[in-house]
Amino acid sequence: MIVAIDGPAGSGKSTVARALAAREHLTYLDTGAMYRAVTCAALERGVDVSDADAVAALARGLDISLTAGAGGERLTIDDEDRTAQIRTPEVDANVSAVAAVPAVRESMVALQRKAAEAGDVVAEGRDIGTVVFPAAEVKVYLFADPSARARRRAVQRQGGDTAKDASAQADAAETAAIEAELVARDKADSTREASPLKPAADAVHIDSTDLTVDEVCDRIAALMREAR
Ligand code: C5P
Repeated sequence: MIVAIDGPAGSGKSTVARALAAREHLTYLDTGAMYRAVTCAALERGVDVSDADAVAALARGLDISLTAGAGGERLTIDDEDRTAQIRTPEVDANVSAVAAVPAVRESMVALQRKAAEAGDVVAEGRDIGTVVFPAAEVKVYLFADPSARARRRAVQRQGGDTAKDASAQADAAETAAIEAELVARDKADSTREASPLKPAADAVHIDSTDLTVDEVCDRIAALMREAR
C-alpha cells in the first residue's frame, strides 16, 4: 500500500509520516530530504542554484541515500553523511529554486519510485499524490495555519518536541521569521510550472492546526482500513 501525504511546509507531514510508519509498519519516504540534498550539494560545491542546466547535471550525478534506523533517518550524498546539513537556513532559502527545475524533479521522482518498490510506504512531499504515485491507495493533503506551522518549526529548532508537547511555545521573533520563510517557500512551491504543490483531486484534506499527531494518524489509519 502507498500512503501519499502532501502539503505546505511545516504542516506536520514529516512528524505524522514518521509516526504513521512506526505504527502501521510502513517505510517512511521523506522526498523533501532529496531536494534538500541536491540543494546542499550545490551550495557546498559552488554550483549556481539559478543555473538550471548545472543543477540538473549535478542532480543526475549524485548518489543520494536515505535510511531509517533506530536513531532516526540518515541521509548521505556520495557516501558522506549530510543529515544535519540539509536542514540549514541556507538550504531552506534555496531549495525551492532547485526543486523548480524539471530535470531535477525527473531524477528525484525516479529515485522515489525505486525506493517504493520494496513494499508498503508512506511518502510525503508536494507532488506525491499528483505526480509521483497517482495511484496511491490513500492520499492526504495536510495543512495548518501558517502561525501554527511556524510555532512548531521554531519549537523543533529549539530542541523541543511538538509531538509530545503540542502547546510548547517558542521565541516570538524567531517564530515570525520562520513564518515569513514558510509562506515564501509555499508561494514558490505552489506557483512553479513543474509539479506545483496542490491537492490531488482525490485527496482527503486534513487541517492539523488543532489536532495532535496521534489524532492525524488515527484519521489516516482509518483511511487505510477503508482502502483495504
Ligand atoms: O518537505 P520539505 O520542507 O523538507 O521540502 C523542502 C522543499 O523541497 C520544498 O519546499 C519543495 O520546494 C521541495 N519539494 C518538492 N517536492 C516534493 C518534496 C519537496 O518540490 N515532493
